[in-house]
Amino acid sequence: MKVLVINCGSSSLKYRLIETDTKDVICKGLCERIGIGGGHFKYEVIGSDKGYEKDVEFPDHNTAVDTLIKAVTDPENGVVKDVAEIGAVGHRIVHGGDKFTEATYITDEVMSVIEECSDLAPLHNPANIQGIKSCRKVMPDTAMVGVFDTAFHQSLPEEAYLYGIPYEYYEKYGIRKFGFHGMSHDYVSKETAAIMGRDIKDVKTIVCHLGNGASITAVDGGRSIDTSMGYTPLDGIIMGTRCGSLDPEIVHALVEKTGKSLDEVMHILNFDSGVYGLSGYMSSDMRDIRNAYNKGDKAAIRAYDTYVYVIVKYIGAYMAALGGADAITFTAGIGENSSSLRRLVCERLKGLGVELDNDANENGKGARMISTADSKVKVYAIPTDEEMSIALSTVEVLKKLNKA
Ligand code: AMP
Repeated sequence: MKVLVINCGSSSLKYRLIETDTKDVICKGLCERIGIGGGHFKYEVIGSDKGYEKDVEFPDHNTAVDTLIKAVTDPENGVVKDVAEIGAVGHRIVHGGDKFTEATYITDEVMSVIEECSDLAPLHNPANIQGIKSCRKVMPDTAMVGVFDTAFHQSLPEEAYLYGIPYEYYEKYGIRKFGFHGMSHDYVSKETAAIMGRDIKDVKTIVCHLGNGASITAVDGGRSIDTSMGYTPLDGIIMGTRCGSLDPEIVHALVEKTGKSLDEVMHILNFDSGVYGLSGYMSSDMRDIRNAYNKGDKAAIRAYDTYVYVIVKYIGAYMAALGGADAITFTAGIGENSSSLRRLVCERLKGLGVELDNDANENGKGARMISTADSKVKVYAIPTDEEMSIALSTVEVLKKLNKA
């Protein structure tokens, strides 16, 4: 089936058309600067020179969806003859609260529940909802499925999702750990089991999704049992610009000592912290930090070492939570590409049965094992593919409903 994957932000819309039977990406692209003027449209046809870029004004999301549908159905440069060839649309939705435990067929009723979750992700969910509305307008007869960043973590046991605050705040306000990057953790844990040649039900994996945003998840038998991001994506390990887990009193102290407002301090914790803040505002890009580290720059060493240490701590904690792990898998921009980061982390895990194969780590490419065959805990580097995960989940939902 051909599935159109839509990842809609407040002023941008990323899309990808995937043939799920073969897992081939047919085309992909981006509508930029929606609603703010100076719009730009990118359309790339994989394995062909039919693609193009052009400036297009996008007064709203409807125009963006209209433009991309015209591009993919265009007689000259398109990839399908008719919009009816697109079997379904899979929408990325950031927050499903505790209402959605899996990808869900979108009806009017489901739309209202997604809208109810908007206060948990005020920057993301309204844009995701707008994407669904625009697609429904332009392709009213096409099946739509919502795939949630949080759904994969709805399997967390109570002991993992509760915080040590009065229980009434969980009951009244739903304050709990939700976890994010669910599509990636789901996809990569399945790929890990596949590469091991084992049934996922029998595998315990720690997935390290290390990108600009980053989270680590303990996956037991295909189910998330703990994850480092929390009520919001600010929690957990240190990230590009986000602080990760903190003593909550620090927020209070920063308000008092800097004279900044609470909102300003929260902005600092989201955008000026993490590797960027620790390195003295050098960069949030791990390649810059690593280059400076190699030259002996003290600020870069401080940031990089702290980053590695926090990752090691989470992996150790999740080994305990899982009662031992079969595999550790690195994914996303840093996890997939930085052999030195993987080496520094794994060196510190030697005592826990991790033995890296330096050649496979440094010189290999693509999805592969990077530990020795004798390593008690196997280590993998596996590229994530959130769009593929959305497309495959979309088909799964439709199959269950006999709509595919
Ligand atoms: P993502 O959010 O998954 O796109 O990942 C972005 C992060 O990946 C940035 O910090 C990049 O510096 C990092 N990254 C990308 N390529 C490499 C590389 N070859 N080595 C180290 N870090 C990389």
